[in-house]
Amino acid sequence: MTTERIAIVTGAARGIGAEVARRLASDGHAVAVLDLDEAACQKVVDGIVADGGAALAVGADVTDETAVSAAVGRVAEKLGDPTILVNNAGIIRDNLLFKMTADDWDSVLSVHLRGAFLMSREVQKYQTAQGWGRIVNLSSTSALGNRGQVNYSAAKAGMQGLTKTLALELGRFGVTANAIAPGFIATDMTAATAERIGMGFEEFKKANAAEIPVRRVGEPADIAHVVSFYVSEGAGFVSGQVIYVAGGPKD
Ligand code: NAP
Repeated sequence: MTTERIAIVTGAARGIGAEVARRLASDGHAVAVLDLDEAACQKVVDGIVADGGAALAVGADVTDETAVSAAVGRVAEKLGDPTILVNNAGIIRDNLLFKMTADDWDSVLSVHLRGAFLMSREVQKYQTAQGWGRIVNLSSTSALGNRGQVNYSAAKAGMQGLTKTLALELGRFGVTANAIAPGFIATDMTAATAERIGMGFEEFKKANAAEIPVRRVGEPADIAHVVSFYVSEGAGFVSGQVIYVAGGPKD
């Protein structure tokens, strides 16, 4: 049985985040769909509400300290105290090291790491007060190193360190923190990578699937399923973990 909680999913206007928001709503939680563009969030909210769920569109930039504080306050006021947080917002600015600008380094580290830090610091106030909470951070197989992604791989390895420290600090308050490291998931992000290297998306997916042990690329629902497990009542003894959701082992 699911106890209804209030969840915030960042970067939830599309891709993995939108699917996670829909899954948590269908699991019985009220979900704040947070992204840069509130109108884009509203479309996801409308879909959730049409399916009988409860959701709220929240426009905010996760790197903006003031906006984060206002957004989390608004969720608390409109939906109730948030105790589930999924730090999913992310960007890529790929380039080989010698061509990468400092701006591309800073913006990627900022959205993933500063964003997850600010959101977690704000939401933990409600989690610790309630003595229950779940934080799920999106890492990536790129945390293990990926050509053309010094910024992104550093950010995604950082997400794993952040997760483990959140687990250590917040465990005594009934709060778990875990990470998911997806492999190739079919979204706008991987479509953009295909475009950058001059390949059609279908061809790119086929080429990637051939290298994946289960012989298919991932879908957002594959990630949403693991989020659903991590935030479930029964997963309270699972904390500080990283699950690679990549259709095969990674090391
Ligand atoms: P996506 O389709 O590009 O969606 C990312 C969302 O995050 C977008 O809606 C984007 O908004 C939003 N966002 C970006 N910067 C933000 C900010 N500062 N504040 C709030 N929202 C912001 O990406 P995805 O493929 O679903 O990826 C979701 C997460 O999974 C990311 O953390 C990504 O790194 C991780 N991941 C993805 C894959 C994959 O294969 N797709 C693999 C491993 C890990 P805009 O549309 O307005 O820019």
